Amino acid sequence: MKTGLNHYLKTFILWELLIGLKLTGRYFFAKKITVQYPEEKTPQSYRFRGLHALRRYDNGEERCIACKLCEAVCPALAITIESEVHDDGSRRTTRYDIDLFKCIFCGFCEEACPVDSIVETRIFDYHFEKRGEQIMTKEKLLAIGDQHEAQIAADRELDAPYR
Ligand code: SF4
Ligand code: SF4
Repeated sequence: MKTGLNHYLKTFILWELLIGLKLTGRYFFAKKITVQYPEEKTPQSYRFRGLHALRRYDNGEERCIACKLCEAVCPALAITIESEVHDDGSRRTTRYDIDLFKCIFCGFCEEACPVDSIVETRIFDYHFEKRGEQIMTKEKLLAIGDQHEAQIAADRELDAPYR
């Protein structure tokens, strides 16, 4: 009888609605955590695994020695490499493609690279407009490396004690 009366009373004063409004009120006055992207960005780890880049040495020489370890370790088969041996005996890639539609951003390629050539940058906001643009060619990867070398080098410096 008492339970039935309670139920009737709660229905009459819209008890569930008041409970809901209490929660709404709590968040209404709480500190807001909405980030106004793209003007504001959330903090990133120096180990962030974003868009790839190929790096050069300070003298402009490509770091990549076409060992194909990154291609072999890639679980998504996203990397395609072709190479040739130069007259001086050095081996260089003639083709280095990463298919971003296949890539799962696992970071295995940069872990495997013996010369810190292929790396993943902090870049995460990019898009494609035409079919085929998801293929990151050697030229595109080198250009990203050239543009972001300072940040890449600083991030790898921070990571050095753990490698
Ligand atoms: S991040 Fe992983 S999936 Fe993407 S290219 Fe490198 S090894 Fe392949
Ligand atoms: S990027 Fe590194 S692992 Fe991949 S082929 Fe070049 S040197 Fe080898």
